[in-house]
Amino acid sequence: MKLVQFWRNGAPALGLQTEAGIVDAAAEATRRGTTAPADMEEAILLGAEGAEGVEQLLDPLTRDPVCLLPPEAVRLAPVVTEPGRILCIGLNYRQHARECDLPLPPAPVLFNKFHNALAAHGEEVALPADYKEYDYEAELVAVIGKPARDVPQERALDYVFGYTCGNDLSTRDLQFARGGQWLLSKTFDGFAPIGPCLVPAGELDPTRLDISSRVNGEVRQSSNTSDMIFPLAQIIADLSHHFTLLPGDLIFTGTPQGVMQGYPADRKQWLKAGDRVDVTIQGIGTLTNTFR
Ligand code: MN
Repeated sequence: MKLVQFWRNGAPALGLQTEAGIVDAAAEATRRGTTAPADMEEAILLGAEGAEGVEQLLDPLTRDPVCLLPPEAVRLAPVVTEPGRILCIGLNYRQHARECDLPLPPAPVLFNKFHNALAAHGEEVALPADYKEYDYEAELVAVIGKPARDVPQERALDYVFGYTCGNDLSTRDLQFARGGQWLLSKTFDGFAPIGPCLVPAGELDPTRLDISSRVNGEVRQSSNTSDMIFPLAQIIADLSHHFTLLPGDLIFTGTPQGVMQGYPADRKQWLKAGDRVDVTIQGIGTLTNTFR
């Protein structure tokens, strides 16, 4: 099942991506005399009460749907618009650490972004004029479904609501300048695109998913989440040992090799206005953004 959010009168609303198009979940539920969560936040909170509940509720709405959104008029919203936190893991793929010429970290390295950085599938992201070394980072993003405090690794994935694709956009000439500005270099407006949809956690194994990125159609990253140094279950166990993870929290789980930062100096092509980046993850889909 693929859950999306779209804008309706300025508020996010829940949709279901099907082969026929995007189903308006609320309208389709009303037509069938049932109810559906109004938006992803409600779906996540329902899921927290019983993981199967929300899928059982929504799955019938994807069969022979009538209330489809007109494709030309739909404007997608980020799959989560009000996360409590946007947590990011740095340097979490073996071959990416190698291309950065950095030792493997002994524990997950944490930084964060803010809400202003969220962007939807299809959205155009502005590259500020003050810097020039703009880079892409294809990442698997986990959405937390239940409060998680000190959970063991073996049960950590039970706390995930679903998965989406993310692009951890980064400004290298700021990230490594002024004493190392990781947060500032990665949280410009629109620098955390997520989407195009959210796939419920039970449908994917996050330890073995192909992950890739393309810039203007040219493949730049092509890897598998099996190259992660710290698998998602270990990240959740580690973070939840230090603080309580809450429903709606997003975890960007790190990027594989092939970012522009890792290219030799004479072959570096930073992102610029007019470029298009596609992030594809097996079983989820492709997140596309353009730049101005
Ligand atoms: Mn990253």
